[in-house]
Amino acid sequence: MGLGSTRKTVLVTGAAGFLGSHLVDRLLAEGFEVVGLDNLMTGDLGNLADAGRSPHFHFEIGDVREPLRVYAEVIFNFACPASPVHYQSDPYATLTTSVLGAVRLVEHARLRGCRIVHASTSEVYGDPHEHPQQETYWGHVNPIGDRSCYDEGKRAAETVLRDAARVHNADTRIVRIFNTYGPRMSFNDGRVVSNFLVQAIRGDAITLYGSGEQSRSFCYVNDLIEGIFRVAMAPQIETPLNLGNPVEVTMIELARAVMQVAKRDVTLVHRPLPNDDPRRRCPDITRAKAQIGFEPSVPLLEGLQRTYDNFVERMRVASPVAR
Ligand code: UDP
Repeated sequence: MGLGSTRKTVLVTGAAGFLGSHLVDRLLAEGFEVVGLDNLMTGDLGNLADAGRSPHFHFEIGDVREPLRVYAEVIFNFACPASPVHYQSDPYATLTTSVLGAVRLVEHARLRGCRIVHASTSEVYGDPHEHPQQETYWGHVNPIGDRSCYDEGKRAAETVLRDAARVHNADTRIVRIFNTYGPRMSFNDGRVVSNFLVQAIRGDAITLYGSGEQSRSFCYVNDLIEGIFRVAMAPQIETPLNLGNPVEVTMIELARAVMQVAKRDVTLVHRPLPNDDPRRRCPDITRAKAQIGFEPSVPLLEGLQRTYDNFVERMRVASPVAR
């Protein structure tokens, strides 16, 4: 694969989402013919504004649970609501998108011999008892909790992909994506980075759920996309692979970093901790380093600054007189 005289076609499901759209842009820049599929349940066509100007991008409204009508050499499966607010608003759709979507893609890949790069998640580790999380850890997940539709859906999708590789020799590659942030994040999906940025920009109080001592590790989107691209292009690779930034911060530290970037102090208020909210999360990326040389390079303050600038601009366009 790579740049050649004939453009190779790749498919991105969930193309209008935050990660899907960044991946589309990268694949176009690399010289691929890119087909984007999205049912627009949570995706936003505005995310594909740049891609839409390319003659090499083709968009289809469609659902990954339905049979695919597109031929592509590589399928990037990014179709699934990913923020807790969105994925819990229609749990059945979340679960079926993960599981039936994986089944459909695997059927397609087996018939057509294409490669699948599947977006799994650090949520497969649940509220982990091992820290940092290595790919060998089986996780600590509640099967009947508020997060189960997402966590168990993603776990079952991994099973589908892994079995396709084991039983049918399909080329399936699984990446476990840890918290990622950057330009184009939705303002209102309830995620911590977008909530804190919007609150700081508006001068509202920053909402810390629980004590704010829980931790996450935040990866800037370009670093993550680099890792996904390398996974897709590697001639041979052993997955699942964790992809994320191993620098761990508490939510209080994140709030301070956001205020530093916004050059503004706002009040911190505490709100109840959501059910089953993991206390700690940090990827062990040893395997990704060894296999694809994955090494995130954008520090948190720099990534937050770029995201803040993008939010300020989008909020100005969305509501020019509100600020
Ligand atoms: N969180 C918070 N304030 C908010 C939104 C989220 O303190 O306004 C916390 C949330 O409880 C969790 C962490 O931030 O511990 C990350 O939440 P997010 O929804 O971004 O991602 P996930 O929990 O799926 O990692």
